[in-house]
Amino acid sequence: MDMIELDGTEGGGQLLRSALTLSLCTGSGFSMGNIRGRRRRPGLMRQHLTAVNAAARIGGAHVHGAQLGATTLRFEPGAVQGGDYHFATGSAGSATLVLQTLLPALWQAATPSTLRLEGGTHNPLAPSADFIADAYLPALARMGVQVGFAIEQHGFHPAGGGVLDVQVTPCATLQPCAFNARGALASVEAKVLMSGLSGSIGQRELQVLADRLGVDPHPRHVHSVRPALGPGNVALVQVRHDAHVEVFSGHGERGVSAEQVGARLADEVQRYLHGDGCVAEHLSDQLLLPMALAGAGSFTTATISEHLASNARLIEKFLPVEFEWVPEGQGWQVQVSR
Ligand code: ATP
Repeated sequence: MDMIELDGTEGGGQLLRSALTLSLCTGSGFSMGNIRGRRRRPGLMRQHLTAVNAAARIGGAHVHGAQLGATTLRFEPGAVQGGDYHFATGSAGSATLVLQTLLPALWQAATPSTLRLEGGTHNPLAPSADFIADAYLPALARMGVQVGFAIEQHGFHPAGGGVLDVQVTPCATLQPCAFNARGALASVEAKVLMSGLSGSIGQRELQVLADRLGVDPHPRHVHSVRPALGPGNVALVQVRHDAHVEVFSGHGERGVSAEQVGARLADEVQRYLHGDGCVAEHLSDQLLLPMALAGAGSFTTATISEHLASNARLIEKFLPVEFEWVPEGQGWQVQVSR
């Protein structure tokens, strides 16, 4: 089997997850050393291990080194099988990051799949389930990918206990797509999710977002969700332009006031609104892989993040594509071509 040698020093869990996805999609095996090399606790953590084991399961892969703390992994994929799968991170490890690892391989499979994923649905430093539903999947839909997605149970950091239900329809080839112009601003809407905490926290966050972004502060936008395993508080802002939707999130933390959570989130949204790029920072690094599978595509974005640059270099090792970024407007245009 073709084996691709990779070094994980320059990246985090995303490099490993992208390698798993690309290995399943291309049939090339890989061996990665120095996994999460510069992180405070390098190597595989529970949520990365869940992604490795889930990828191995759907792709009939042989894996060497899938242990907590391991800094080297060898992954030799077999054939990806559509089917009904259930994976749990066993903690608040992000369920959405496991989803993003598996999804491209499952849409390339010959038969449909269902996925039941347990873990965190709204974790800091990972896509929220709302971001998946309202930004990531709609962007994929423009490329022809059809995915049914439902949050059956919310799960917040650190307790987890969330459940996502996903249906994947096969889609052998993706349509190249351009996300260069976001169009006119259509709406900015906020909601706050609360579980096991006083609703007044959510109302205070919403008020900051109303003052700063002009969203509707009505209490109906503070949603009390069915208690997951532990308490949680996430403020979400959806920015809808005519041609593109983004979702931004702010997470309540011990020692950080509701006003600070709202203000940080408002800062992030305002930076996006004042810029002219179409795709915001997080979606930009997540769009690269599907665009590379499509063989072409482009988008405009404000910054070339570390995640974007390291992911692009990794993808070029698996697929016959090239990424380029050229200055455009206040930011960059990222182009993918064969
Ligand atoms: P590590 O612990 O090594 O950093 P990780 O697996 O937790 O690894 P990253 O490698 O940093 O995480 O990857 C996180 C992914 O989650 C990236 O694709 C990033 O864009 C995405 N992400 C982080 N925050 C958000 C957010 N607020 N909205 C959407 N996506 C996000």
